[in-house]
Amino acid sequence: MPALPLQNCFLKQALRTNFLHTMEFPSALKQLLRIPQNVAILSHRNPDGDAIGSSLAMRHYLEQYGHTVHVLFPSEFPEEFDALPGSEDILLWDIHTEECKNVLTRKNVFFFLDFNGYGRIDKMGDFIKDLPGTRIMIDHHLYPDPIADYTYSEPEASSTCELVYRFIHGLGDTMKINPMIGKCIYTGLITDTGSFRHATNPMVFRIAADLVERGLDDTAVQDMIFNSQKEKHLRLLGHCLTHRMEYLPEYHTALIWLSKKDYEIFNIQRGDTEGIVNYLLSIKDVKLAAFIHNQPTVVKLSLRSKGNLDVQEICKKHFNGGGHRNASGAYSHDSLKATIDKFKSLLPEYKEQLNAKG
Ligand code: 5GP
Ligand code: MN
Repeated sequence: MPALPLQNCFLKQALRTNFLHTMEFPSALKQLLRIPQNVAILSHRNPDGDAIGSSLAMRHYLEQYGHTVHVLFPSEFPEEFDALPGSEDILLWDIHTEECKNVLTRKNVFFFLDFNGYGRIDKMGDFIKDLPGTRIMIDHHLYPDPIADYTYSEPEASSTCELVYRFIHGLGDTMKINPMIGKCIYTGLITDTGSFRHATNPMVFRIAADLVERGLDDTAVQDMIFNSQKEKHLRLLGHCLTHRMEYLPEYHTALIWLSKKDYEIFNIQRGDTEGIVNYLLSIKDVKLAAFIHNQPTVVKLSLRSKGNLDVQEICKKHFNGGGHRNASGAYSHDSLKATIDKFKSLLPEYKEQLNAKG
C-alpha cells in the first residue's frame, strides 16, 4: 500500500486519540460558535507562552466568524511575547481593572484556556463566577474543576496550544489556520515542550509540520522566545547558578533560591525568572529541581522533575499548588527560609522515588 499523505496520517492518528472521542462537539456548541458572540478568552496569572499563544490563536480563529473577542489575563506577561499578533490589545486585570470589569459584564461566552480552576485567575475568577454565559474550558492540567459547560481537558496533551489546534481541526476548520494563528500555536508548543524535549507526543510533531506547511516561520518564533533576552537576564542567570544554587546529591535534587534583595538588585520583573529552574535539570543525576523565590508579595515555588516523580502531588499536598506531573508550581505565605526548609524537610519522604532508577 502506498504511504498515506501526511494529512491523512494526521487524521488517522487524531481519530485514534481519546481527544476527538471525548472532545465531541455538541451541536449546541457548534451553533453557538457559528453565530457572532461576545467572547472573553481568559488565561492564568503570570501567563506563559502557552497561555498567551493559545489565547491569541483562539482569538484570531474566532474573529474569522465575526465574534467580538477580548483576551484578558490577571497579570502581565513577559516582554518577548509582545511580538505575538494581538498581544497589544490584551487586557490585564492588575492594570486595567475597571475596563476588565466593563468588558466582562458584556460577555456571553467565556473561554478558559490553560487553567482549570478559578483560583488560577484570582480576583477575575471571583468577578466572573456568577456572571451569566457559556463557559468552555480547554486545558491540559490535572484535575479540572467542574466550572465549565464544555470541558476539553487532556492532561496527556503537550500544551493548550496543541488542544486549540485540535479544537479548530475538530470543528473542521483547519483551513482557517493561517501563519498568524500558526505563530501563536507554535509558541505554546515550543514553550510547553521546552523545544520538543519533554511532554511530546506524535501529534505535536504533526501539528508543527502542518503549521510550517501553512506558512509558519518557525525560526522566527524560536528567535522571539530564546534570542530576545536582555543582558540583565544572563547576569541574573549567572548569579543564580554561581551564588544561589544548592545541590543535594543524596536526594538527586537541586535548588535555586532568590531573596527579596536579589529582586531589588537585579530589578527583577515578571517573566525575568522564566526558565531558570530548567537549568537544574541539565545536571545528569538531578531528578527534582526547585526554584524558590521571594517575589515582592509572596514566595513562589516552581518544581520540575524527570521521569515518574510527580511534582504535581508535592505541590498540591504540601503547598496547595498544582500543574503537571513534571512541572508544577505553588505559592507560600511563609518566609523564604521557612519555605526552603519545608521543601528540604519533605525530601526524605520521597527518597525512595528520588533514588529509583529511570
Ligand atoms: P511554573 O512553575 O512555571 O510557574 O508553573 C508550572 C506549571 O504549574 C504551569 O503549568 C502552571 O500553570 C502550574 N502552576 C504554577 N503555579 C501554580 C499554582 O499555584 N497552582 C496551580 N494549581 N498550578 C500552578
Ligand atoms: Mn500550558
